[in-house]
Amino acid sequence: MIPIAKPLLGADEVRAVSDTIMSGIIAEGPRVADFEQAFADYIGVEHAIAVNSGTAALHAALLAHGIGDGDEVITTPFTFIATSNSVLFTGAKPIFADIEDDTFNINPDAIMEKITSKTKAILPVHLYGHPAEMNAIMEVAEDHNLAVIEDACQAHGAVYDGEKVGSFGTGTFSFYPTKNMTTSEGGMITTNDQNIADRARMIRSHGSRQRYVHEMLGYNFRMTDISASIGLVQLNKIGEFTRQRQSNAEYLSRGLKRVDRVTVPIVRHNCEHVFHQYTIRAQDRDGLVETLSENGVGTGVYYPIPTHKQPFYQELGYNDSLPESEGAGDEVVSLPVHPSVTQDELDHIIGVIKGTE
Ligand SMILES: *Cc1c(COP(=O)(O)O)cnc(C)c1O
Repeated sequence: MIPIAKPLLGADEVRAVSDTIMSGIIAEGPRVADFEQAFADYIGVEHAIAVNSGTAALHAALLAHGIGDGDEVITTPFTFIATSNSVLFTGAKPIFADIEDDTFNINPDAIMEKITSKTKAILPVHLYGHPAEMNAIMEVAEDHNLAVIEDACQAHGAVYDGEKVGSFGTGTFSFYPTKNMTTSEGGMITTNDQNIADRARMIRSHGSRQRYVHEMLGYNFRMTDISASIGLVQLNKIGEFTRQRQSNAEYLSRGLKRVDRVTVPIVRHNCEHVFHQYTIRAQDRDGLVETLSENGVGTGVYYPIPTHKQPFYQELGYNDSLPESEGAGDEVVSLPVHPSVTQDELDHIIGVIKGTE
């Protein structure tokens, strides 16, 4: 079976972890600081704050912006559940705006319609590694004095109008093993705002900037030096990983763009897509998933049920109708695009979808 995701870990990562363990410092220490600096440089921001998951990055970023009880945060329902759950953690209410049918990202016009006097922030997701429409989103945010927290958990290194995502508002990243780079579990917050960075650092560690002095309510969101040492190695490889993903995606699109049953992903002219997922639309999606599986091709459906339709959100009383998100949930399927997929495997995937294999 060609897997849908595969972390690329080898001798370099083993050596880095082993060195860290032998150093005697395994919790947050010098390697976390080095990883933060290197990641800030990579994204092109002044501050990066390492945490122990992408979910923690979202949670801490929202809290750092002072989001809480009574506030509303406008976000997309077509994403992993962590995006809007992190809003719920703060006591605020996620408000869902529908998506664009081609990029699957939040539609800026739909955001406008959802703004109320309670709105405090916009939380776009750069889904599958394609940037959200940041010019329009930043404009709406400025006009209404809203914070922007970017869920870039799938978009390490993706570029919008010449700038990396995670540098427009406050960025949040995940380093879960299936993401474009990994630290095992892990996450990062990126910002150019000194005040947000200071608050995020305190929230990460029990509201404390000086040992045993607690200025606010915080959590234990700290990353370990073991994780950071893997991250430092992976960060050196992310450029090559991304190029390989992009070249695999281009190859798949060349093979699939004239196939009737499917629509290949688009890349906006001012964007660089990092293809965390290569996601097509297919009319008979479930049939295609079955055919691919029978022919040894692993696939993923991200995400079959938009957040507002999840049982837990229905219980909370959400009853929106968001037709683009619901339609996408019925039609999307992601194909293997990660750096270890070979050319023969790409040909096989294309052949199976065309019905010639
Ligand atoms: C992976 C992911 C997260 C959560 O990251 P974790 O590290 O798993 O907590 C949040 N949002 C999106 C869009 C993701 O893909």
